[in-house]
Amino acid sequence: MALNLVMLGPPAAGKGTQAKTVARERGIPHISTGDMLREAVQAGTPVGRAAKALMEAGSLVSDDVMIEIVRERLDRPDTRDGFVLDGFPRTVAQATALDGLIRPRAPLIVIEIIVPAEALVARACGRRTCRDCGTITTAANAACPACGGPLVQRRDDCEEVVRERLRVYERDTRPLVDYYRRRPTFQPVDGDQSPDAVGVAIRHAIETALEAPALTGRRT
Ligand code: AMP
Repeated sequence: MALNLVMLGPPAAGKGTQAKTVARERGIPHISTGDMLREAVQAGTPVGRAAKALMEAGSLVSDDVMIEIVRERLDRPDTRDGFVLDGFPRTVAQATALDGLIRPRAPLIVIEIIVPAEALVARACGRRTCRDCGTITTAANAACPACGGPLVQRRDDCEEVVRERLRVYERDTRPLVDYYRRRPTFQPVDGDQSPDAVGVAIRHAIETALEAPALTGRRT
């Protein structure tokens, strides 16, 4: 069965790292709207030019733009067996639109990664990304542990912007937990443990969700 997965959680909760692993293991695309926007900024496209200042301030890009980006991406044939969405939806309007977009497909599985706020600030400010291969690591490493490439800090990973991103998360994205909570395919996971342990918990949560009546056709 297709795995249509949403990875929900605050900035620096580990969504990206975990989403990439699940996508690789399942052979389905990892769709990070943050990565897509950063590529658009780099390429200087109209979307990138509009998004740049908002991203640097830790604000959200408009729902209309984001929904259109994701609609186009989910139209591509490589999503037929599923996808892992990372960073989308971030508002109830985006979540409602996503439900409409995937209606003919298997139901969404939603994993919420839970991490306390103070741990998130420390993580985000110490986070580094490999310029060459995109691996996410910590400032404790001098070079990328995967390929030896140079490490860079995302412009929105400094403390002031991280705190603003957390405020935006609480205000705009936290309501999504209520939006999804009652679905049998919603699974919270403790993200305040080692990445490997979080990975194990996520695999377990996915299997539990795939067994949910909404996916197996069983009645509750
Ligand atoms: P991320 O890499 O997911 O933390 O996203 C980085 C930034 O891109 C966010 O702080 C927002 O400015 C923007 N962004 C990414 N995804 C979305 C979305 N679904 N809705 C609005 N803005 C987004």
